[in-house]
Amino acid sequence: MMSAAEQILRNHGLRITQFRMDTVQLFLLAGKALSSADVEASLRDSDRITLYRTLKTLEDKGVIHKAIDGTQVIKYALCESSCDEHHHHDKHIHFHCTRCENTVCLDHVFVPDVTLPAGFVATEAHMIVNGVCESCNRRMLLP
Ligand SMILES: [Zn+2]
Ligand SMILES: [Zn+2]
Ligand SMILES: [Zn+2]
Repeated sequence: MMSAAEQILRNHGLRITQFRMDTVQLFLLAGKALSSADVEASLRDSDRITLYRTLKTLEDKGVIHKAIDGTQVIKYALCESSCDEHHHHDKHIHFHCTRCENTVCLDHVFVPDVTLPAGFVATEAHMIVNGVCESCNRRMLLP
């Protein structure tokens, strides 16, 4: 049986390598955005060059996108299935929890359309909401 990670690589026309599969698998399981350091720490025998190339390839091919969260660390998260080599369609906002420092994609909450002054052309827009995530919030309410 084909794993979900393998399926994703195939859908994006990517050659299957163990390292790519392991990386995608990690994003599938994480449920949050991961930095390259997070990925490096979780994968055995990951040399840094291969890791950077892999993340770049996955981003270029529409498998992962940058989850810009206002911190200095670049994090990535899995894309919606409609992303491809030519376009990312990740118009959702990113939530950065100031307690656990996790950043998550809020897939169903979208960056609002903004009306720009005449002469301005937008190419991309990011929206970050800082605050307390659902699981931290639940923890705070516990006695
Ligand atoms: Zn995308
Ligand atoms: Zn949190
Ligand atoms: Zn996202």
